[in-house]
Amino acid sequence: MDSDRARGVLLGLACGDALGRPVEFKSASEISAEHGRLDEMIGHGTWNQPAGTITDDTEQALCIARSFVEQQAFDPADVADRFVAWYDTGPFDIGGMTRRALTRLKRGDEWDKAGQQVWEQSPEGQNAGNGSVMRCAPLAIPYVADWERLAEVSRQSSQITHADPRCTYGCAVLNVTIAGLLDDAASPLGDALDYVGSDAPDELMAALEPLARGESPDGLETSGYVVHSLQTALHDGLVAESAEEAIVTGVNRGGDTDTIGAIAGAVAGARFGASALPDRWLAAIDEAEELESLAEQLTSV
Ligand SMILES: [Mg+2]
Repeated sequence: MDSDRARGVLLGLACGDALGRPVEFKSASEISAEHGRLDEMIGHGTWNQPAGTITDDTEQALCIARSFVEQQAFDPADVADRFVAWYDTGPFDIGGMTRRALTRLKRGDEWDKAGQQVWEQSPEGQNAGNGSVMRCAPLAIPYVADWERLAEVSRQSSQITHADPRCTYGCAVLNVTIAGLLDDAASPLGDALDYVGSDAPDELMAALEPLARGESPDGLETSGYVVHSLQTALHDGLVAESAEEAIVTGVNRGGDTDTIGAIAGAVAGARFGASALPDRWLAAIDEAEELESLAEQLTSV
């Protein structure tokens, strides 16, 4: 595997997250009225942070990557502990299901029970957010050649906070797609859907199959619903002609900009490599060096 592409997965995720952070929750027309086409890291805005600040998407991806490197394996209980330690730092951005699951974990629930309980108590419409697909991409690197294990650990990484099958299988499809890209597959999303598909929820398959056939569905949505976020971000990540275009397109759609940017960025980073990401973006991200080093360590486990 090309290590530039492995670095691209983590750095692309962080670039999309940080570019989208200041305009999270704004509509496409609000973004364009205020910024034209937003393609620079800017400060203030939503969450009022300095330019290049990452959010929960990259923070939790860091937890997964650091855990893997330290444990030399995917250890979901250790990842859950790291999520809780991050939660204790008082993050400015955290999703509802994640907050509730991490609160339960703090009170002593097992890693595979907290998210399940939260899911069972959540009504349809509030039970399948994008809070696990936004962070799962680091796992595609060490398991690039073992799709069975990759699909399994991706689902487990979701289960910690997001137990809905649309979320758990969404993580599996995204990561098998990224693994295919790292391996230069000709039709990575189609391969991932074929591989994971027989068990995956119909809603997820129906949203992603047109993309695998090369179609661009009308009215791509930007809500925090996992099926919308995955469909839109995979579309942008897979069809753009550069990593920068993928991330800028995803973010400028508005809505859940940081997460759509993060997912599109992980996909586009796997396609084009870290060297294709703008230096002006990477220079603004404090965690870039650590992300690069983690990606290299994940390629050599
Ligand atoms: Mg976020």
